[in-house]
Amino acid sequence: MDATMREQIANFENYPKLLPLSDSLSFGVHMSIAGGYVELLKQMTSLNATASAFFTSQPRGWNIKFPELNKTQAFYEGCLAKNLCRNQFLAHAPYLINVCSDSEDTRAKSSDRLLLDAFIARLLGLDRLNFHPGSSSDSAGYIKIAQNINDVHAIIPDIVLVLETVAECNSKTTIGSSFASLKQIIDLVTDKSRVGVCIDTQHTFAGGFAPESSFGDDLLNLFKKEIGAEFLFGVHVNGSLTKYKSGNDRHQNLHMGELPLKEIEKFIKSLKAEGLKVPCVAETPNADFYKDEIQLMKTWAEQ
Ligand SMILES: [Zn+2]
Ligand SMILES: [Zn+2]
Repeated sequence: MDATMREQIANFENYPKLLPLSDSLSFGVHMSIAGGYVELLKQMTSLNATASAFFTSQPRGWNIKFPELNKTQAFYEGCLAKNLCRNQFLAHAPYLINVCSDSEDTRAKSSDRLLLDAFIARLLGLDRLNFHPGSSSDSAGYIKIAQNINDVHAIIPDIVLVLETVAECNSKTTIGSSFASLKQIIDLVTDKSRVGVCIDTQHTFAGGFAPESSFGDDLLNLFKKEIGAEFLFGVHVNGSLTKYKSGNDRHQNLHMGELPLKEIEKFIKSLKAEGLKVPCVAETPNADFYKDEIQLMKTWAEQ
């Protein structure tokens, strides 16, 4: 990002008001933005989804451009027209981002991209941006992540940066493969009202965050104990292609794979029982099951 774009973002004042807050859990899937942000709203309708996750900017490649304000505005107005709320969306920053990378070049590009994607999310009227903490061979990685969050907070109003749980529990460099690891980052963030966590059921299963036999019953309780329910800003609901504690980030559709459907059901029900009002979105490989998966999650939450 050149200095002009950074300045343009830093001096931007014409943000829309945040979209309102919904008072229930919402359910959807990760959707493509290939057709533009407004297209997400159509995809939600056709899938009977009440939530959506999407990449704020094109996920592949570092090329960036200043957002087209007529397009973010059209999304915002579309949400108002359909009574969609900010906690029905979980924007996701590109996987490329690694703000604590050992490479200075990657760190610089990642910081810019996190800022840009937070800017876009806020232009859409949203309040949360999900990203992966990153990996670093250095114990200062945690400090770098927190510093990036603080930096974004200083420039973009309202935005909550949402750290995702990751599966790589056997890696010495990947950050975020336990609740304690995410808590370490949160502890270093100045404004704790604007940092949160996204629990991914596949990552936490493959990462061994909760015991295998009582996974769905214990996951939220452990999160509450180690971090706190108020820090939950979103959930990724995925089945697992790989075994418990495999350390591999490999998603499967909900009714298939190694993570029993019953455990996913228990986890969704625990969110409902806790009165949480967060977007729950599947990032599953086979889109043929999207409609059924959304309906299934809704049914669990109603029971
Ligand atoms: Zn993710
Ligand atoms: Zn995820």
